[in-house]
Amino acid sequence: MFDDNQLEHAVALRRDLHRHPELKFEETRTAARVAERLRELGYRVREGVAQTGVVAELETGRPGPVIALRADMDALPIREANAFAHRSCHEGRMHACGHDGHTATLLLAAEAIMVRRDKLKGHLKLLFQPGEEGGNGAEKMVREGVLEAPRVDAIFGYHNRPGFEAGMLFVKPGSAMGGNDTFRVVVEGRSGHAAMPHLAVDPIYVGASIVQQLQGLTARQKSPLRAGVITVAAFHAGDAANVIPGEAELLVNVRNDSDEARDALAGRLEQVVQGVCQAHGASYRIESLHHVPPLVNDPYWAQVVLEAGRTHGISQRIEQLDYMPTMGAEDFAFYLREVPGCFFFVGNGDQGAYLHNEHYEFNDAILPVAAGTFVALVDHLMGPSD
Ligand SMILES: [Zn+2]
Ligand SMILES: [Zn+2]
Repeated sequence: MFDDNQLEHAVALRRDLHRHPELKFEETRTAARVAERLRELGYRVREGVAQTGVVAELETGRPGPVIALRADMDALPIREANAFAHRSCHEGRMHACGHDGHTATLLLAAEAIMVRRDKLKGHLKLLFQPGEEGGNGAEKMVREGVLEAPRVDAIFGYHNRPGFEAGMLFVKPGSAMGGNDTFRVVVEGRSGHAAMPHLAVDPIYVGASIVQQLQGLTARQKSPLRAGVITVAAFHAGDAANVIPGEAELLVNVRNDSDEARDALAGRLEQVVQGVCQAHGASYRIESLHHVPPLVNDPYWAQVVLEAGRTHGISQRIEQLDYMPTMGAEDFAFYLREVPGCFFFVGNGDQGAYLHNEHYEFNDAILPVAAGTFVALVDHLMGPSD
């Protein structure tokens, strides 16, 4: 599907992006490189979408489906510990999630798709998205209308997965990645003397009760057939041994596999906080800091990915998973709330370093599988019907 020259070019580009990581909504150099390459290839390109995103379109002029393919472009605030020549040249910034690889993948696919343009029907959109890492760039792209005019029929994206065989293509129909909700809860008590608790309202005691009671949501409100977990990741209160403080702050992280589990956990959080506070005469404030819905793959389009991969012999190993590979969140979920599609995975091999680790690296050897799957999908859905 790709010749040596194309692959070499893709690897060089991936390493160049790795060397110049940019944080969410600062991907200006990356976006400029992406836009330049897409114009060279002959796409109609729009820059500055959702701040630093790039959208490229190919209109074949023949009636057919509207297909979108997406890559994310941002890096992380991590100090890279790798020693190879293309390690990050920006102290404290690193492509530790492989978005350099995802961007190179979609550009490689874009090149192979252009070669086929005369045989294709329908309309193709390539979305190079900023701010996936905690920035919900996907939600911003959706708000800026990338799925409209014309309305997208199906969208596809992927993530590399360390710990799975390099080049293994796999799909999880239905719930595939976790939803993530993060809240700041402030328990407002009344400060006082440690020897006179009856004259104070102790927010540490109330906060501790909230920590305990929240676990009851997982155990008793969520269906045991649904996955979800609540972690109280921070608890800040007090600074003197003889003083009851006035406030306690809790950072609560809720993960879920479905709207049903989210309703049972995040949806009931305030009820628990309110009940516990009321029982002890405290009040509270709750603020939502971050929200990503669970990523749910449409079963039909998940099968299409498997079928396209198999028909085109994209990988030696193509599988359907019957379990969620991670409770980690991915903002691709925002696209799937609007239009059907599938977020698939490609194994990154076992390098002993997981995503967001200072030793992680995207495996260039998987580029042909990942880009090949995108091209196979375009062939399958926009190619001539036989
Ligand atoms: Zn990440
Ligand atoms: Zn990622």
